[in-house]
Parts: sequence; structure tokens; C-alpha cells
Amino acid sequence: MTKAARPLLLLALAARPAQCLRIQPALPTRGGAPRMSLPTTQSEWHRAKTEGVPEALPSTDEEWRRVLEPMQYAVLREEATEPKWSSELNDVKEPGVFLCAGCAQPLFTTAAKFESGSGWPSFWAPAAPSSVITRVDFKALLPRTEVVCEVCGGHLGHVFDDGPPPTGQRFCMNGAALEFEAGTARSEAAVAAFAESADSIRGPPLAKVLAEAALSGMACAGLLYSWWVTEQAGAGAPWAIEALRGSGAWLGGAVNTVFGRPPGGPLTLLLAGLNGLSVLQKLPLIAHATRARAPSEPPGE
Ligand SMILES: [Zn+2]
Repeated sequence: MTKAARPLLLLALAARPAQCLRIQPALPTRGGAPRMSLPTTQSEWHRAKTEGVPEALPSTDEEWRRVLEPMQYAVLREEATEPKWSSELNDVKEPGVFLCAGCAQPLFTTAAKFESGSGWPSFWAPAAPSSVITRVDFKALLPRTEVVCEVCGGHLGHVFDDGPPPTGQRFCMNGAALEFEAGTARSEAAVAAFAESADSIRGPPLAKVLAEAALSGMACAGLLYSWWVTEQAGAGAPWAIEALRGSGAWLGGAVNTVFGRPPGGPLTLLLAGLNGLSVLQKLPLIAHATRARAPSEPPGE
């Protein structure tokens, strides 16, 4: 987008408040080129995308609906989530590139794909840092980081901090928002570009990962203790009843002082388990970051 086009975009967004929550292409054409006639069928759009990112993109919901398949439209334009394990892209292992199903922008490569067990195609990094845009959404009450295509603004999925090294990120993508391509010039270019940059991709600092793991570990221990004390008090153990009164054990006392009676029961156990799982998920990242920090060994004599 040119600098001159930005004020126009702001004006357009201000005039259409319902659109402000979604990233829309600034103008119906890319690079300021005059708008060309848009394909109006799915097969025409598919053909246009085989030649690269089309110069002209649909700008209205109706135009997008005409050129995308129903599931692609639901995910990309209405932020729907496809059913788990429904995408054939879960099984792709062949080297290649995953393009945006809306506009054919290269988004991910197989080199960064991993089996997350989530039921959605998962990647630890995008094909290039600028391929995608992230923003916070609150649709699931707790904040999540949404991932959208940098070119067409289509919704792709979410990114979480429980992925493998080196980044520790899990880009959890809807397969319907992606199209896999291998053996073409653009797929090979994307694969080569990612391979070239992969060594320089860094994860979060070791201190940050350690601090997060320590916090989760302490939460896990505190919740387990709380659960155990409550169970024992329920069974009539005098020490546990004393602990719940805040005088028999330092942690029970502290919890009692700050929060009142410590919680117990299955929910406490579940929360302890989730925090424990979070620590386990961080271990590979800690090992990777530690290796990366270790000075390389001097050459042998
Ligand atoms: Zn796109």
C-alpha cells in the first residue's frame, strides 16, 4: 500500500464500522494497479491463483462467496473453524508450500510442519515473518492470538505458545484456508527461501521460558497441595483440618490467608494437571535454548 493510500483506507474503514473488526484489503487492487475484471466462478479464481497472487482481489463478501468453496468462505471470511481431523492437509509430509486458499500467498512450508495431535495442520513458523498478521481475539472469552493472511486478510486460525523448538509456537491452521502445492517454481522458491532463513529463526529468550515454566510448576504444586489437603481434611485427618485453618502448614496457611479456604475437588486437580502439562511442553524448548546458548566446542587438536 502506498503512503498516499493510507488516509483513504482510514476514511473507508471509518465509514464502515462493521468492517473495522476484520482486516480487509485496503483497496480492491494490489499495488495500486487499476482494477481488472474479477473472475466470478470458483474455477476461474482457481485458475487465476495458479499464476500467482491475483492482482485484483474480491472486495465484498458477495464477491468472495462467488469465488471460494463454501468451507473456504466460512473459514476465511466468516472466521469459522473446520471440524478436527477433517483436512487432508493433516497428512501432507511432502516438501512444498501451503498457499492461502483465498489469494495464493505462500504462507507455510512443509519444513515447519509438525504433528501436534490437535487435528488441524500445525506449523512452528510461517514461510516468512511477513506472510501472516496476528491480532488478539476474545471469541473464546480468554484471549487468543488470531492469524490472518497478510495479503487478503482471510482468517487462517490461531497461534499458541505450546509448540516445539525452535520457536515454541504452534500455528494451528484450518486446512480449508490453505492449498498445498509442490513441484512448481513458486513452491520450490518458497521452500528454498525458508530453508535459507530457518537457521536464523530464534525462539523466545531462555530466561522467559524458564520463568514461565517455573510459574506453571509452582501453580501445579500449589494446586496439588491444595487438593491433597482438602481431600485429607474431608477424610478427617487432624493435620489437614489444622492446615485448612491456616496454622498447620506454611503453604496451606499462606493460601488460607490470601484466598480463604483452599479449593479442592476435581477442578483443582484438572488445573494442576494443565499446569503440569504446560511445564512438560516447555522442556524441549528449554533444552533447545540451552543448547543454542552453550558455546561451541573448540576444534579438536
Ligand atoms: Zn490470502
